Amino acid sequence: MKAVVKTSQAPGAELKDVDIPIIGPRDVLIKVKAAAICGSDIHIFHSSPGIMHMVKTPLTFGHEAAGEVVSTGDMVSSIKKGDRVAVETHFPCGHCYYCQTGAQHNCSNLVIFGVQTDGAFAEYAKVPEVVCWKLPQDYSYDLGSILEPLGVAVHGAMVEDVNGKSVAVFGCGPIGLFAIGAVTAFGATKVFALEVASKRLAMARQLFSSAILINPKEQDPIKTITEATDGLGVDVAIELSGNPAAIKQAFKVLKREGRISLIGIPPGPVELEIHKDIILKETRVHGSFGRLMWQTWWQVRNLLAMDKFDPLSVITHRFPLVDYAKALELAASGEAGKILLYP
Ligand code: ZN
Repeated sequence: MKAVVKTSQAPGAELKDVDIPIIGPRDVLIKVKAAAICGSDIHIFHSSPGIMHMVKTPLTFGHEAAGEVVSTGDMVSSIKKGDRVAVETHFPCGHCYYCQTGAQHNCSNLVIFGVQTDGAFAEYAKVPEVVCWKLPQDYSYDLGSILEPLGVAVHGAMVEDVNGKSVAVFGCGPIGLFAIGAVTAFGATKVFALEVASKRLAMARQLFSSAILINPKEQDPIKTITEATDGLGVDVAIELSGNPAAIKQAFKVLKREGRISLIGIPPGPVELEIHKDIILKETRVHGSFGRLMWQTWWQVRNLLAMDKFDPLSVITHRFPLVDYAKALELAASGEAGKILLYP
């Protein structure tokens, strides 16, 4: 089969002919119908040090995927050939402390699809039965392939309720756009969207007419948000950019007793004013990694059933798998929304 393979620690990747994965008794083999490009795929492609320590080459990368089940292992009981599935990308061991206590996404023996084991930028992918999420009949494979990043946004945004709250979303890449859509649908009263890339700001403007857009290069976000919230700040800040300056601003725009969700990964340590920004304000800080299995997936399904926001509108480009390099460079440019690959 064709697969996009990271063959060495050096930047780049190769389209190669490789063997179709051999499944174990608890695995299923999926014919990949759509795979979406994530920020971490760009980091693998460019060999960013922040992720390469997890990658053992050769690796077929790509982890946001949906496809059709073509075969199942002998012990698989809940999934059958012909099922249409999306993939939860955190493979839990099922028996550690975290798995036993309902926090599979924080499993001690976590294996990440397409990062620590072969992934979805290929014609076929092998995944454990336990990470398959059956697609409802009215879901396309395109929608299936973006449920995982949509889940990242929903888990980060909805770790506490946002109904009736003001929210600032830092970063309007695909997950930021999903987060704006989610908090708006779940009842946030005032939503600020912050982004420096003009194309992404334009997308946010087009998709969410009610959001208040801020380009931090042109406007001081702290002053703008404080003034627009009666001098109080927002109830909730959701940080997706990973930019150290944005992370600091996200703490500053928060109201006393506010909540901040940190999702974007900074390139290194970030210096915070813990005394002023957390202790005196009684700030609740939530780190967010992945999604809850399967609470977040059900929350996403409920969000989509509300029909207040179409996540497919965040997809801007679609490429055949052979054009993976072009697609990854476009994704890295910040000039696109979500990009899908079709093996
Ligand atoms: Zn575990």
